[in-house]
Amino acid sequence: MNANNKNHAALAGEFNKDEPRVDWHDETLWWVRQKRDKAAAGVPDWEVLRDTASRIKDNVLSRLSEYLQQFEAAATANGIEVHWAADAAEHNEIILSLLQQHGVTHMGKSKSLLTEECGLNEFLEEKGVGVGDTDLGERVVQLAGEPPSHIVLPCIHKKKEEIGEIFHEHLGTPAGNADPKFLTNAARLHLREKFLTRRVALTGVNFAVAETGEFVVCTNEGNADMGAHLADVHIACMGIEKLIPQRYHLGVFLRLLTRSATGQPITTYSSHFRRPRPGQEMHIVLVDNGRSTHLGRKDFRNSLKCIRCAACFNTCPVYRRSGGHSYHTAVAGPIGSILTPNLDMKKYADLPFASTLCGSCSNVCPVKIDIH
Ligand code: SF4
Repeated sequence: MNANNKNHAALAGEFNKDEPRVDWHDETLWWVRQKRDKAAAGVPDWEVLRDTASRIKDNVLSRLSEYLQQFEAAATANGIEVHWAADAAEHNEIILSLLQQHGVTHMGKSKSLLTEECGLNEFLEEKGVGVGDTDLGERVVQLAGEPPSHIVLPCIHKKKEEIGEIFHEHLGTPAGNADPKFLTNAARLHLREKFLTRRVALTGVNFAVAETGEFVVCTNEGNADMGAHLADVHIACMGIEKLIPQRYHLGVFLRLLTRSATGQPITTYSSHFRRPRPGQEMHIVLVDNGRSTHLGRKDFRNSLKCIRCAACFNTCPVYRRSGGHSYHTAVAGPIGSILTPNLDMKKYADLPFASTLCGSCSNVCPVKIDIH
């Protein structure tokens, strides 16, 4: 066991006690992997796109401080307030102070892995601030009192019958009703109230453009847009590696991201946020939290190219059969086994062993990270 007293093999053993769930989890994610293959095969220059994305990220990593300063200047000129956080604690304090300045005790949040990494929900709840996740999958796991198990499909470990039970307990839906359409409508009504009443909305960031000071948020549900457009204050949080130099580079990354993630040609919403609308405040928090250390470690540097598509999760024979919670970290799967030990080598010493070294993760990675 490691210092955290958690161990991937032991936790995977727990997951493996429910054999039908393991089979179904394995098959479902393999189905997503196959969708990815079909989508990739439909783009004749797929391998050129992967090479190009990897090389753009090489450039970003070698000039990161320059691009960050360029982004800060452009975003500030656009009317966005830029904040810098060295670590998770600073990130959480910045968010709390913004909420306190506005006297807000409830906030809506759209899927943001970084806030999971920083433990924002728990921190704010201890300070008396309620956080309502608005992404449907994230809301399901939040109601269940669990962390997400997958970075794109947060409640992939839950069957629809279990979601029906959670909704019955927390949202008052009829017992035994697990019809996906019915449950989605119930969630829509429940979340709509949150969108309409929250004055502050927090979103993640998929890409930030150094040249223009804008950022792009990709969702399939439109929840980030709904939250940000209805709130008086929009706070966006991003890891410093999310930068790309110029807007036209989005043509490379947006074509790769969703095909790799779910096999769709593009996310339903790829929304650009460049300046606050009149009367609105917009903030962006740029977070390091170990990324600079990564940058200085030769063997880890490439992992900062990750665009969080989760293709490496869906293809990994270990992840598919051990479940996301066995990684006991915000970003699970093959890339999480590289990213997280960098934050704490002792606590996460077990994770690099969650690999068969088959190399399937490296084969599908859209930015060509040598994961295995
Ligand atoms: S490492 Fe590559 S495949 Fe895995 S999530 Fe990141 S970009 Fe996707």
